[in-house]
Amino acid sequence: TDRAPRHIGPGPAMRAALTKSEGAHKYDHGHALVLSGGAGRTGAARLAARGALRIGAGLVTLGVPGAAQLEVAMQVTAIMLRRCEDGAALTALLEDGRLNALCLGPGLSLARARALVPVALAEPARSVLLDADALTAFADDPDALFAALHPRCVLTPHGGEFARLFGAPGDDRVASVRAAARLSGAVVLLKGAETVIAAPDGRAVIASATGRAAAPWLATAGSGDVLAGIITGLLARGIAPLEAAGFGAWLHAEAARRVGPGLIAEDLPEALPGVLRDLE
Ligand code: AMP
Ligand code: MG
Repeated sequence: TDRAPRHIGPGPAMRAALTKSEGAHKYDHGHALVLSGGAGRTGAARLAARGALRIGAGLVTLGVPGAAQLEVAMQVTAIMLRRCEDGAALTALLEDGRLNALCLGPGLSLARARALVPVALAEPARSVLLDADALTAFADDPDALFAALHPRCVLTPHGGEFARLFGAPGDDRVASVRAAARLSGAVVLLKGAETVIAAPDGRAVIASATGRAAAPWLATAGSGDVLAGIITGLLARGIAPLEAAGFGAWLHAEAARRVGPGLIAEDLPEALPGVLRDLE
């Protein structure tokens, strides 16, 4: 029988996972690759990349089509940039074994998602987060996606994206997300005022934004893209998928609380240092 889900909070496990050791090198903290959409639709991936960097991934690279390279180059500094036109280009990029966590979906476009997701999932040693277009691209044939997923995958649908893959969640959201995780073989995080996360083995956690000052302000363009980046950064740091998703959802809601009413997505990565400082 399934145990009741735990509520995520800032306990010793989260503190231990987020602390960096004194002698660390940037390569000790992983290298995240965020795949961007094309020209004029790179903002979502840039938000995700910023979230991954702020949560402590050692390196973050954006993979962009050539036509979007200049647009992205003008907007990023500490984030690196690599050209990634299609599946063959992604295969070549992934020859770098240090790229240990991938984020696909925010702003990606359905066509690019169909080309890149299968390549991203080909190597099961790598963590892969799929969100937004990387989920919607499989609405016609969810089983094809589920067959390719592996235990280091995290899916981060909002209610609509969840419904396209699994059918609409029922009144018992925990049961619905548990069933989705079992069926897909990945960690599934269903977003909302209360975010429910489950692993294929039935473990489930809840990260609540309810009661936080700015919670409804999270219903704004790009906030989910930052969450995708935060979780990808935690995966790059070597944190296990269920914990990365749970900690990430809590840290995202706490960052929102600190910004307060009026928050926009860009504020969320910038609020993370304060959240992390108080966890130390
Ligand atoms: P997305 O729909 O992908 O943009 O993601 C939206 C983000 O905002 C997710 O992290 C949700 O959990 C969060 N969110 C959306 N609406 C609310 C709400 N009313 N209260 C708290 N969090 C919310
Ligand atoms: Mg979204």
